[in-house]
Amino acid sequence: MSLINKEKFEKNKDYEFKESVYELCKTDCCGKFCIKDSKILELFINPKDFNEVILINKDAKCPFCGVDKFKIVEIKDFNEIQNVKTGWEAYYN
Ligand SMILES: [Zn+2]
Repeated sequence: MSLINKEKFEKNKDYEFKESVYELCKTDCCGKFCIKDSKILELFINPKDFNEVILINKDAKCPFCGVDKFKIVEIKDFNEIQNVKTGWEAYYN
């Protein structure tokens, strides 16, 4: 199960898809937290502004540090982020 609560998250969006699952992720290059919409492969990068979103495709650069090759790794367990401020706390399950 995702760590992110779909209902809470979608309250801040203008559009939604039934199939969307929101995953809390971390970039492997610079260790920033973001939310991935696993259905339409969007990446939300600013908890305070949901308009700051990028599409994840093969040309995508890290939206935080700008490197060409980056991976986003899903956080699957709250234990992984114990005592870590992700900025996305308001949307936790
Ligand atoms: Zn980065």
